[in-house]
Amino acid sequence: MQAELDLLRYDLFAGIRHGISTRHGGISDPPYDSLNLGFSTLDDEECVAENRSNFARALGITSVELTTAHLTHGSDVAVFDATTPDDWPRAWHPVRAGSRRFTWVFEADAVISNVTGLTFLLTAADCTPIFFLDRLRGVVGAAHAGWRGTARGIAGHVVRHMTRSFGTYPADLVAGIGPSMGPCCYTVGREVVDAFETFGTRPALVANGDSVRLDLWESNRVQLQAAGVPSDSIETMGLCTGCHVSDFFSHRAEQGRTGRMAGAIGL
Ligand SMILES: [Zn+2]
Repeated sequence: MQAELDLLRYDLFAGIRHGISTRHGGISDPPYDSLNLGFSTLDDEECVAENRSNFARALGITSVELTTAHLTHGSDVAVFDATTPDDWPRAWHPVRAGSRRFTWVFEADAVISNVTGLTFLLTAADCTPIFFLDRLRGVVGAAHAGWRGTARGIAGHVVRHMTRSFGTYPADLVAGIGPSMGPCCYTVGREVVDAFETFGTRPALVANGDSVRLDLWESNRVQLQAAGVPSDSIETMGLCTGCHVSDFFSHRAEQGRTGRMAGAIGL
């Protein structure tokens, strides 16, 4: 019997098609149980496809309407502008090497769009999905922010690209910071702290004896505020994947043998 597929949603995004999955509501076997949405895992492709169909249905669409991020752990922003459909940076691509099943893919860790009918999917297992919405101009955005993307300032990049491409005023934006490895669990090494310095950003760190933990939520919240998003327009779920492996896939807590959650948003 398949468990209910409930998506996590933000109050600030009410009325906008969006949601973040948990690991509940799918058909995959351990260690991918049960709602694994990542074709990049070693999970059975048929199970992932079925899970994606269920995920899409919970969003009120079909899986062919999903455009999936092929993550690069960089900070590029893919732009989908309704006035220039020939320039949309997407390709019809096999879901994994050798597969005969295809899906729309864009190569970036962030996306912005004013196109009605496109919904963007970003997978994660410890990194935080961040959503963006400018209701006045009808623009949505999404970013996948692990330590690499956060060090590169990806949240601020998305805000600036929305301004450049669609005329968004940051003060009109709302943003949502999703589940990820939290400041309670995310012990990081020197190379992570150094990466922030390299890119001129600042990590929010929590001291823990001889080690430090990275607070991805606070690091990204500070970047959003610095980019002009009002503090009361930023919603943080505050759910740690490492603390709640019964509800979330955690790459770290499960030593890499796990599935992928997904965040999706579209107009
Ligand atoms: Zn935790």
